[in-house]
Amino acid sequence: MTETSTSSGGRPSLPMQGVPQPSRDEVLNLPRVHISSHPVMAHKMTALRDKNTQPPEFYRHVKEIGALLAYEATATLALETVPIETPMGPMIGERLAGGIGVTPILRAGLGLAEGFREVIPDAQIWHLGLRRDEQTLQAIAYYNQLPHRVDLQVCYAVDPMLATGGSAIDAINVLKRRDIPRLCYVGIIAAPYGLLKLSQTHPDIDIYIAALDESLNDVGYILPGLGDAGDRQFGTF
Ligand code: URA
Repeated sequence: MTETSTSSGGRPSLPMQGVPQPSRDEVLNLPRVHISSHPVMAHKMTALRDKNTQPPEFYRHVKEIGALLAYEATATLALETVPIETPMGPMIGERLAGGIGVTPILRAGLGLAEGFREVIPDAQIWHLGLRRDEQTLQAIAYYNQLPHRVDLQVCYAVDPMLATGGSAIDAINVLKRRDIPRLCYVGIIAAPYGLLKLSQTHPDIDIYIAALDESLNDVGYILPGLGDAGDRQFGTF
């Protein structure tokens, strides 16, 4: 792509062109960033990235990766004790203390949220519509289904691609206006640029990703990445 001019209102049409980006090594050891090292995850990621993987299969992989990420991201959740009766007699069991919220950033976050529901079926799903302005890459909220009553121990904002970080930062900003004790971001692939931005803007959240890629191209897509995660899930090419 060679276009360098502005297309509307003087905004750059290649928003990442010439923008300095950190290297992978520079962001590998950021605090509170968890990059999956599970071999099953690596296996599924290869199938997901492959350009020959068609939408039905792609969506299934996103869900399965979402379930694996949910398993990793919930490893430190708080438990409370509860007395129960097994068929053999009484015992003290444990259950998750407080509700779990999952906020899929529409629309690409929907498959990941489904994966979370496989692991935690009673998680509340708080849809949030943020879209990228193609020119400026700024996030714009167009849909917000966060409930009025909040009783959660944690809420996970889920979006597969952490590219420039704009949508993730905005989603966490929206969630921070609620009374939620702990917030996390869960994504499939991060670019060093977006990961650093999110981590610096919200140093108080945990970030879980399946893979850390090399860079962003001039229009803000992750390299090597997987292309457009929304289009590939929903077949809108
Ligand atoms: N959104 C996507 O779907 N893919 C990218 O590479 C970046 C943002």
